Amino acid sequence: MSESLQTKRKDKICNICLKDKALTNENLSWDHVPPKGGIDLSTMKARRYDVDISVDRTIIQNGLKFRTLCSDCNSKLGSFYDIAFNSFLIDVKKYLLSKIVQFPYVESYPTLLIKGLLAHILATKTQECCSKIDQETRKFIFNSEAILSPDIHVYYWLFPFNCTIIREEEMYFNPYSGEKLHITMLKTFPIAFAVTYKSVLSYPHVIELTKLNQNDEEQKSKLIIPKQLYALDFPESLVREMPRLVKSEPSNIFASPKN
Ligand SMILES: [Zn+2]
Repeated sequence: MSESLQTKRKDKICNICLKDKALTNENLSWDHVPPKGGIDLSTMKARRYDVDISVDRTIIQNGLKFRTLCSDCNSKLGSFYDIAFNSFLIDVKKYLLSKIVQFPYVESYPTLLIKGLLAHILATKTQECCSKIDQETRKFIFNSEAILSPDIHVYYWLFPFNCTIIREEEMYFNPYSGEKLHITMLKTFPIAFAVTYKSVLSYPHVIELTKLNQNDEEQKSKLIIPKQLYALDFPESLVREMPRLVKSEPSNIFASPKN
């Protein structure tokens, strides 16, 4: 595995429950992003997203994955939340491939979907993670009574590209309007998701999933399938000119099937 792409935590602290598994002599387990079950687990080639594309690719067998969760958190995620997450991706894919005229929505569970998404975004972090989004994620995911902070917004749009892009948290600042955009993203075929903190992502074919969330894991809703597509690097290409505050070593990832 190349130095430039890190997919494991160096210690044994679970990103979700924060238990140090070194104390009980256990290893962390691998979390697939997107989760197993919904996607084909091909061998992937992955690289850092913001660097020259000629740099070495890291080859990863059986899909993109991160060794950052303890086995308890990983199996809770897999047995419940991932089912909703995968069904949503599979249903949107079926909708897009179908030749029959259909209503432009799929039925899904918004609260479960948000929880699965937040957990997998947290799982992609290979270093200490304690941002506001991380903290809210930990409070929310495995507690069926928890109320998601109104500062967290989750959005999705169509992503018809055969790759997975993970953009870690970034903060953009517009010095003229004073507007801030605090955002992290997980894009994978056929849906891209963004999570923002105290900021709004307002584009015509971007749907706000948190508007449907009633903090009820059993709640089922119709999730609109947007009509139009955006480019692979949407929306970062549109805000690129804004000054950006990032950590010194961003670990944005671009992964696509090897063949
Ligand atoms: Zn854990």
